[in-house]
Amino acid sequence: MSRPFAELWSETFRHAAEHSPFYREVFRGMNSVPALTNVPLVDKQTLSARNLDFLCVPRERIVEIVTTSGTTGQPLLWMLTESDVKRLAENERLSFACAGLAANDTLLVAVAMDRCFMAGLAYWLGLRELGCGIVRTGAASPMLVLDMIERVQPTAIVAVPSFLRLVAEKAQETGFDLANCSVKKAVCIGEPIRDGAWTLNASGRAIESAWGAKIYSTYGVTELANSLCECDAGAGGHLHDEQLHLEILDDDGKPVAAGEIGEVVATTFGVEAMPVIRYRTGDCAAIFREPCACGRTTPRLGPIVGRKHQKLKFKGTSLFPSTLAAVLEESEGVESFVVIARKESELSDSIEVLIHGSVSMLGLREVMQARAKITPQIRLVSRAEIEALQMPPQVRKRRTFVDLR
Ligand SMILES: [Zn+2]
Repeated sequence: MSRPFAELWSETFRHAAEHSPFYREVFRGMNSVPALTNVPLVDKQTLSARNLDFLCVPRERIVEIVTTSGTTGQPLLWMLTESDVKRLAENERLSFACAGLAANDTLLVAVAMDRCFMAGLAYWLGLRELGCGIVRTGAASPMLVLDMIERVQPTAIVAVPSFLRLVAEKAQETGFDLANCSVKKAVCIGEPIRDGAWTLNASGRAIESAWGAKIYSTYGVTELANSLCECDAGAGGHLHDEQLHLEILDDDGKPVAAGEIGEVVATTFGVEAMPVIRYRTGDCAAIFREPCACGRTTPRLGPIVGRKHQKLKFKGTSLFPSTLAAVLEESEGVESFVVIARKESELSDSIEVLIHGSVSMLGLREVMQARAKITPQIRLVSRAEIEALQMPPQVRKRRTFVDLR
């Protein structure tokens, strides 16, 4: 880091304490810079309830307005000044550079540029900074993606993993040789491609083999106007520490040891319009601080293992539904599944796994115990029963976890 933490934090503190109605209240009467760890945590509910009280500049200084997924009802408004847009561009330039992209690359940006999302804009800005060629296909049509691959011969793509799988299906259907196409790198957003370790999960492996490309996970949060992307080592997303400070905290708000899973809590540096301090993202992951094989010395954030509120308590251990899902996706004979959690007591949940397919129950129990360290109830059911649970009428995205707690 070329600028010391103390300087970056003091700048964020003074700016927020002076200009944000929310932070003016929090820091009332405080004249010297407090230790960051003494500042109260702020969560999404507060961001939602006090949304525009986080704004530090007059509205005429705002140049971009996007939204972030809301916890209840309306999505939050998030605003950026010209300098915030430049910071966002620099963040993505650094992130894409981690994935080894450079000016001679041509990329398909297969994510939405509209619908008030920040991500598409951020990628576009970062790639512009790098000087790459950009094809904004969006994520509406797999056919358009295949067509542009053929005509433009791009070297890389940015997309959500499930969309990359959809394109692979379309390629297979139409006899398009995707595995030997020009795309050699895929930057994956929004869904996990790795399991807890550094190995690819079933989805990641399917994408690598269908596309014949190396895949890189990237993790971004709109409220932080920041993303962390993996390098070739695939050992966590690199933090750009002049823009963002991360803490990983346990349920009591205490820091966990490096490599241990906890909630990702973030403080933005250099944000003008809506800085946030000790923001609880709700995402759970581990941080790794030893230098990376790529030579970078910045901390790396491991795969997001789940949302904090999804954490299951089961007979004295805790785990995330994603751990069970990873085991089930790898298990032979499992065609589809749903994990159902119910509240049993304050200290324990009951976990039931519904499976469609032809599996050896004994074998599956053993694998569960070995890999997820628990043996939940397992029941074989019909495909229709699974599908009804995965896609009930009010749910827009297929789910494999049903939380009835
Ligand atoms: Zn690295």
